[in-house]
Amino acid sequence: MTQTIVFATGNAHKLQEIQDIANGTEIEFVLPQEGFKPVEDGKTFEENSFIKAKEAARVSGKTSLADDSGLCVEALDGAPGIYSARFAETPQKRIDKLLGELKNKDNRNAKFVCAMTLVDKNGKILFQTRGECFGKIAYKQSGVNGFGYDPVFLTQDTDYKQTMAEMSEEDKNKISHRGRALRKVLEYLKK
Ligand code: IMP
Repeated sequence: MTQTIVFATGNAHKLQEIQDIANGTEIEFVLPQEGFKPVEDGKTFEENSFIKAKEAARVSGKTSLADDSGLCVEALDGAPGIYSARFAETPQKRIDKLLGELKNKDNRNAKFVCAMTLVDKNGKILFQTRGECFGKIAYKQSGVNGFGYDPVFLTQDTDYKQTMAEMSEEDKNKISHRGRALRKVLEYLKK
């Protein structure tokens, strides 16, 4: 029987990614109803994903899953981290700012992090997990797929030969932080 779970996001691209990753399972993800307005004032990815999941359960009265994700850059002491979406005004400005701050830096190590929290209809935590994807920040952007910082993120999984925006959606989902976290949630739900 198909199980419907609310996925707490306003980002249509993320919903598409998680639907693709869950393809073939009996789980269907839907967006929360209107009125979903989480205040993301947590200090960690885990706290923010819990805040979003709890808010989705509040407006929908259903089991809800949320992710909170971002890019952590070693030479910037982990920034932009939980502030990845708010690092600058637009996706392009965020990339430009990142490349600017790393201009004279040889250490390009970075990782994408994704925390996921699953709550029941009352907002109680059922399961919480994290997925990470390691890589390096490129010197210039390339590729048009994906979203966010994908055009400047060279993944370890392709020996730093491709940015995430040059990978197919299918290949990205196999190695991404979100794919890794979601597969653990799906395992939990299967039990
Ligand atoms: P969130 O929606 O609060 O979790 O913010 C996540 C932000 O981190 C996004 O707006 C992107 O800037 C960045 N981000 C998270 N996941 C990815 C990804 O898979 N690719 C590129 N950027 C990402």
